[in-house]
Amino acid sequence: MLKVGITGGIGSGKTTVCHLFELQGIPVFYADDRAKLLMNTDLVLVNSIKEAFGESVYLEDGRLNRKELARVVFNNAGLLEKLNSLVHPAVFRDFDSWSLKQKSPYVLKEAAILFESGSDKDCDFTILVTSPPDIRIRRVISRDKVSEEEVKKRMDKQLSDEKKIELADFIIRNDERELLIPQVINLHHKLLELSSVKTANDD
Ligand code: ATP
Repeated sequence: MLKVGITGGIGSGKTTVCHLFELQGIPVFYADDRAKLLMNTDLVLVNSIKEAFGESVYLEDGRLNRKELARVVFNNAGLLEKLNSLVHPAVFRDFDSWSLKQKSPYVLKEAAILFESGSDKDCDFTILVTSPPDIRIRRVISRDKVSEEEVKKRMDKQLSDEKKIELADFIIRNDERELLIPQVINLHHKLLELSSVKTANDD
């Protein structure tokens, strides 16, 4: 089975694209959602977070105190890196055991920071969803009801599209010029072909 990473900047439409792959029957692992879940359910991870950041980052009922953790790591690159160094391996493990249970020719791993976290190294291929900044800003303002400044601030924290284009194997342009569905279907067929080559080589 092929493992395919999919990423894109905020508002690029990566989740929308993933839903289109799901319609083709392809399972998608949403790394950011899984990370949030694991921070509440993976006991090894929970204990290492408590050890690193203190018991106060968990509520009395055992759930993560997201606000408190955000306050602790806010604007502190070192602590944020520490948190990521605990969460990423847990997500890696979870993705591996999840993918073993899937029965499709390939699976997708959606992650906002696929390249930044090194998750791309765990994938056979990577897809980047791109979209011009003005369209992304408009989409996020309308989806999240936030200000333009807030969206720009979030965008500035991410690796630029220019850099990610160099790193990705496939690009999906969600720029309202090229139709999205034909691009997804084309790529789906290409990935099916690539997975049959891999299966033949593995046999
Ligand atoms: P984030 O990183 O913030 O989670 P994302 O890359 O997953 O964003 P989506 O949530 O898929 O982006 O898309 C952002 C918003 O734009 C959503 O409300 C989505 O419905 C809308 N959108 C995405 N692509 C299109 C499109 N081609 N046409 C119209 N609306 C779109």
